[in-house]
This record gives sequence, C-alpha cells and structure tokens, in this order.
Amino acid sequence: MKIEELQTVVPTSNMGPYEQAYNNFQWEDAERHFTWYETGKVNMAHEAIDRHVQEGRGEKAALLYCDANRHETYTFSQLRASSNRFGNVLRKYGIGKGERVFIFMPRSPELVISLLGVLKVGAIVGPLFEAFMETAVKDRLEDSGAVALVTTPALLSRVKREELPELRHIFVVGDMDAREQGIIDFETEMLMSSEELEPEWLNREDGLIIHYTSGSTGKPKGVYHVQNAMIQHYYTGKMVLDLREDDVYWCTADPGWVTGTSYGIFAPWLNGATNVIRGGRFSPEDWYRTIERHEVTIWYSAPTAFRMLMSAGEQVVSKYDLSSLRHVLSVGEPLNPEVVRWGWQVYTQRIHDTWWMTETGAQLICNYPELPIKPGSMGKPLPGIQAAILDDRGQVLPPDRMGHLAIRTPWPSMMNRIWNNPNKFQEYFRFPGWYVSGDSAYMDEDGYFWFQGRIDDVINSSGERIGPFEVESKLLEHPAVAEAGVIGKPDTVRGEIIKAFVALREGYAPSEALQQDIYRFVKEGLSAHAAPREIEFKEKLPKTRSGKIMRRVLKAWELNLPTGDLSTIED
Ligand code: ATP
Ligand code: MG
Repeated sequence: MKIEELQTVVPTSNMGPYEQAYNNFQWEDAERHFTWYETGKVNMAHEAIDRHVQEGRGEKAALLYCDANRHETYTFSQLRASSNRFGNVLRKYGIGKGERVFIFMPRSPELVISLLGVLKVGAIVGPLFEAFMETAVKDRLEDSGAVALVTTPALLSRVKREELPELRHIFVVGDMDAREQGIIDFETEMLMSSEELEPEWLNREDGLIIHYTSGSTGKPKGVYHVQNAMIQHYYTGKMVLDLREDDVYWCTADPGWVTGTSYGIFAPWLNGATNVIRGGRFSPEDWYRTIERHEVTIWYSAPTAFRMLMSAGEQVVSKYDLSSLRHVLSVGEPLNPEVVRWGWQVYTQRIHDTWWMTETGAQLICNYPELPIKPGSMGKPLPGIQAAILDDRGQVLPPDRMGHLAIRTPWPSMMNRIWNNPNKFQEYFRFPGWYVSGDSAYMDEDGYFWFQGRIDDVINSSGERIGPFEVESKLLEHPAVAEAGVIGKPDTVRGEIIKAFVALREGYAPSEALQQDIYRFVKEGLSAHAAPREIEFKEKLPKTRSGKIMRRVLKAWELNLPTGDLSTIED
C-alpha cells in the first residue's frame, strides 16, 4: 500500500506524548476517578448518572434524543429519576442482582432508561438489535436464561413466549390493544413507582452486560462483561474519544452492539458528556442534519457508514454546517485509506480508526488524538495495553510479519466468560499469557498495527499470504467501486486465487471492460499477485446488521457450501 502518498494529504501531529504516556501509565490512575475507589461500592449506573447529580451537574443535558418524530433533552437528574423508577418496577417484580434482563427495542429514550434501571438493581442487561427475527431473539433469550424483557408492541410478536419458560415478565413500551398474562405496561408502572432508589451495591467482578457478537465469522457468542470494564470505558473516553466537559458527542452505533453501549452509553456518561442518540434509519441528510443541529463536536461511526456517506457524495455535505466537529473516529471494520482521505478532504477531519472487539469490551489499539495517523493502520496499543503478533505456535513475531493479533492478559474490560460456552472461551487463551483475537495483522517498525483480515480469511496465493483488506482498500480507490469483499478461491495451480465481489457506485454498470479496468487498477497500484483474477459484480454485499461484510457468506456462495448461522445478516 502506498502509505507515503497518503500521508501527504493527511497531516500528522507531533510525536512524543505517546511514548511518555505509555511508559508512565498505571490502571490505578484511572481507578482513582471512581467513587468506589474510596467507598468500595460499585454500580455502573451510579457512576454514569447519579454521581453527576450528587456533584452538582444534575441540570446538565445528558441525552439529546432525536428521530423523525421526537426531539427530547434529558438532564442527568431526569435520567437518574426515571432509571430509579424503572429500578423500582423491576424490584416490585422480584428482579435483582445477577438476573438477566433483555431489551429488544429501537433506539429511544426508553431503551436507555430501561438499560440504566436494569443496572441500578444489579441485574445483567442484554440489549438486542431491533431487526432480529423470531429465531435470533429466541436463541439469545434462551441461551442467556433471561427472566425479563423490555420490548415494544410491534416487536412482541417476534418473542416466542411459549418456548421460553424462564422468561417471567415482559414490559411493553407503547400502547397495546389487549393485555395478556405476563405482559406489563411500562408506562403505567413507571408512573406508579418512586423516583428514589438505593442502587444495588456490587463488586467489581459482578456482572454488567451480555452482548452477542456480530456473527461475521460464525454463530454469535454471548460475551459476558463485568462492572470492572468501566475503568476502561472511562479512560478510553478520555484518552481516545477525547471527551471534555462541554463536548457534544454522537456515537452512531445501536446499543444492540457493543459499540452502542461501551461508547454509546457508558464512556460518554462516565465522562459527564452530553450524548446524542439518533433513532431511525441511516440517511446522509438526516445524519448531517444531526451534526448541524446539535453542534456535535465528537463523532464515532463505522467504515460502512463512512463508505455510504462517501457514495452519497460531496454535494450533500455542502448543504450542512459541520464546522462544530473537532474529532472523528471509526470502529467495526478496517478503515480503508480512501475513506481517511475523503474524510480529510470533505470534513477536514482526520478519521481516527480504533480496533477492539465485543470480547475486549473497550478500545485497545487506536489512533488517538496526539498520535500521527498512518492511513490504513489501526494505530498503536493504548497505554496499559500490550499487543503483539504471534505465529501459529504462540511465539512473538518480529515487525512486518503477518500473524495472530494478540493482547497480553488481562486488561480491565476483558470479557469474563462466553455465556454457556467455556470451551469457546478457552480457545481465546490457548497461548499462555495471551488473548488471541482471531484477527490477522502485522506491526511495523514504528509500532503501528496493520489489520490484514480475519485469520480464516487470509488468502494463500502462489505461496504469498495476502490479507483481503489490502486488496479491498485498493479496489475502493477505483472510482467505480462503492464496496468490495475479497476471498480466496481454491485453484489447482496457485493454491488460491483472489476473487473480488464488487458493488458499483451509482452511474456505473457492470461490463467486461470495467472488470478488466479494475483488475489492471489493482495490479498496477498494488501488485500482480494481489490483483483479483475474478471479479463479480453484485447489487449489494452480504453484511451483518452491524454493517460488516460477511466474507464467509461470499465464500460459501462461491464454493456451494452451507452458509452457516445467518441470524445477524441484513435483509
Ligand atoms: P463474530 O465474532 O460473531 O464473528 P465479529 O467479530 O464481527 O463477529 P464484533 O465483536 O462486533 O463481532 O467485531 C470485532 C471484529 O471486528 C474484530 O475482530 C475485527 O475483525 C473487526 N474490527 C473491529 N474494529 C476494527 C478495526 N478498527 N479495524 C479492523 N477490523 C476491525
Ligand atoms: Mg469476532
């Protein structure tokens, strides 16, 4: 990849503070921030919400919620009061510490309030993305042994209650015609309950949340996190998101995915920031309007969204005032250099890539504000985090060698277990002292990490190991290409050849000439061995609901194999 070329368009800040911070850092410095450091009493909802009220920030806007119909502001005091109310409702129904309470509803203030209420009583919250269908919902409620669910009338029909004997209570947010056994009206109960509640005081190792992974590589895993994760949520909010007192912060992720809670709820509020949540579907206009209207200063989104905004073009951007932005970040998939370049040209913002996983609970390898960006790189490990590239036997590889991206254990937000699946959990720790991510990467001489692909997606062609990300990023630089997914296709001569699935930008039509042009473009711009010998045009690429290209589905199509678990695939 021609990094030098890109660096000329993305200016860098001064080197220096990173090494200093890295060497001097201790997690205990972050722990001192919390009231439990003194009191020993732990509760995420207390630290994120109530403590701001106690410390005189109660009237500050905590949540700016907007969708097509609602524009609402909630102060920290209001969130404290309503989450207390819901906590009291849960207690009334005998729900408390350690029990699993799931939330299956679209983004809304009620989602956030319920989530905080669940945490107040020490229960473990399980957020589910609204687009899940019957089986996906049932599998997750069953696997986690959920005793209660918060949902909406529209989504209730996707909950197979007769098959979920452990699910005792369902709270419904919104009007329903008929009341059935076991269905409780959220609104009525909230009105009847008190605004005062003593939170359940917990230990740092007590449960916080269960998130099911995105399902990019196989069946989603129930990742269980404990209260201790808040140390890293708080600290990365400060270090990486760069949250300060008067910021207006917007994370576009849904709380059904880990980014939507770790960075859509916990990190901003642990840092006392004003947090924007936008409901409804993606549209470039609505998104830019959200930034303009709320004067968003920090914006955290994902490559798939940035690519869609890029496809929508510069004209749309020019209709809005985005000058409030001062820091932009990305997570979820590798961030193509082309997208970084676009961000710089069009938003005059460097887009900061951050790497982490549901299992890691919080950011680990990042481009943070004071670090010069090398476009296409995930950045460097945070102070407090040690990362390395391992070979297949668990030995640390020298710079510039591709291998398993691994992290020294432990760190504060590391998962505590995979729910109901101890064997799966053990697999991550098969090399003593390391967490093995399942991603393939290399580290350069400067200590920057470069994502190559999922371990299973790395392509072996004519004896060369090729990461699909590199090829996809080059494809994306071609003016006709909107999205690309690259796989290895078995070949008797070369072992594997590279096959690319490509979705075209508006105004381009599939043709053999275009195919050849794209092939030449990659061959000349990257290398002959990395150029896709086969290119197939697709309307759309298969993606998870969290917006990730599902290469295993592309591969299954290509090889006529079973596609595996599709519970998280987009329509
Ligand atoms: P599943 O584990 O169910 O297959 P998933 O791995 O996509 O799904 P997540 O935990 O949502 O589930 O995603 C974590 C993965 O996303 C990482 O392992 C990595 O492959 C990818 N990822 C996240 N951030 C980045 C990034 N900044 N650069 C490259 N890849 C990223
Ligand atoms: Mg994963």
